[in-house]
Amino acid sequence: MDIRSMTALEIGEKIRKREISSVEAAKAFLDAAKSEGSATNAYITVLEEEALDAAEKIQKRIDQGESMSPLAGVPVAVKDNLCTKGVKTTAGSKMLENFYPPYHATVIDKLSDAGAVILGKTNQDEFAMGGSTETSYYGITRNPWNTDCVPGGSSGGSAAAVAAKLAPYALGSDTGGSIRQPCAFCGLTGIKPTYGSVSRYGLLAYASSLDQIGPMGKDVKDCAAALSVISGYDIKDSTSILEKPFDFSRAFDGNIKGMKIGVPKNYFEIGISEDVKNAVLNAAKEFEHQGAIVEEFEIPTIEYAVPAYYIIACAEASSNLSRYDGIKFGYRSDQANDLLSTFYQSRSEGFGKEAKRRIMLGSFVLSSGYFDAYYKKALQVRGLIKESFQQAFQKYQVILSPVSPGTAYKIGEQISDPLAMYLADIYTVSINLAGLPAVALPCGFGENGMPVGMQLIGNAFTEETLIKTAYCYQLNTDYHTKTPDLVKNKESLPAKGGDR
Ligand code: GLN
Repeated sequence: MDIRSMTALEIGEKIRKREISSVEAAKAFLDAAKSEGSATNAYITVLEEEALDAAEKIQKRIDQGESMSPLAGVPVAVKDNLCTKGVKTTAGSKMLENFYPPYHATVIDKLSDAGAVILGKTNQDEFAMGGSTETSYYGITRNPWNTDCVPGGSSGGSAAAVAAKLAPYALGSDTGGSIRQPCAFCGLTGIKPTYGSVSRYGLLAYASSLDQIGPMGKDVKDCAAALSVISGYDIKDSTSILEKPFDFSRAFDGNIKGMKIGVPKNYFEIGISEDVKNAVLNAAKEFEHQGAIVEEFEIPTIEYAVPAYYIIACAEASSNLSRYDGIKFGYRSDQANDLLSTFYQSRSEGFGKEAKRRIMLGSFVLSSGYFDAYYKKALQVRGLIKESFQQAFQKYQVILSPVSPGTAYKIGEQISDPLAMYLADIYTVSINLAGLPAVALPCGFGENGMPVGMQLIGNAFTEETLIKTAYCYQLNTDYHTKTPDLVKNKESLPAKGGDR
């Protein structure tokens, strides 16, 4: 039985039916992580002993007849910016090379309560800043579809782990696209939930008004199951607003007849590659074919999204990252001889280039004299962006958009041009600025043979509608079932270091 090729829900069902054990499932992925892991460098830490131990305990509970979630006994990988008690949690940074959190993030507790088995912690851009997983202190991650290409980012390790069948599903975090874009680059499905629906307690913060945790998997059913587990109210997160966890049991009838889907035509005019454009517009035709009413319209605020996002995200990052000062926790330089040089040296040595760039940008836009011109302006623009989506949702239930203007590119190709990297976030960042949910899912392949992703955007708390729409698409197409042939490009080994 090829456990690694099954979806998370299929593995869960086989465990419930006693066709396989939870330990067997964990072993299949742990062995693969050991023998094939270096081809992608998807994991920073593999938790072999802990995972086998957890799997045994869960199996006992299942054997005793305890009724558990559909994901009970199923392995999962989690991004390394989610705190795991007693297990190294680095956020991809040298700053946290020796950070062993004294508590679990709420999502980790929720996964454990549901009987999930945590396989390991996945690689990411440092502090989730980036779109290619090239800025990690723990080496770059490679795309399983072509190991010369980036897997996207910042949750590139989670995406590579699932696409390379080193985990059946994973958790990532999305501040401006970091779940959706790596899913698009690796041919996976991922959900960026409505702001406030998943607790951020224990997520190492990047930009708190934008950060959300969400699932990444082979298909939307797996993602929906995982989102049901991790969502819901948490007293430890003051932005938590969902009273109960999501229940998507009615989302899988495959019927989208009469559903109103809007396609923002100005999203397809400049800067987008032909192959992405064609794949997403073909998906629009498929929705129409399934009985949806598809119409073109415009979202006029798109050109302001990237500047507003980078001002707000960097401002919040500069504040969030001020806690890493070499005193309270994290890396401390041994080159320092007084308080100020401790701050200075520890931060200079502990942070990589991209984190420093953003701390400086953020401090600049918040400084007196510039605050009104940049930060305040960006907040006003954020309001306009929100409003433009609200207007669209008066007419449409779902908005269909690309995830990224292009497919996965070669490692090293864009990393020295931060502006080009930032501009590639054009389709994803508005969603975080507006606090909305979006599902990314595969809809074709580009000229270079790499997957293309589309994004379904909905109004706040309409995850069920998005999941229903994505499910209908996956019921009638097979892009989500395609997997890369890792053996073919196993030769290349990950470079150490990334861009630091
Ligand atoms: N690429 C975006 C950035 O670098 C998004 C990152 C994210 O969602 N964590 O900010």
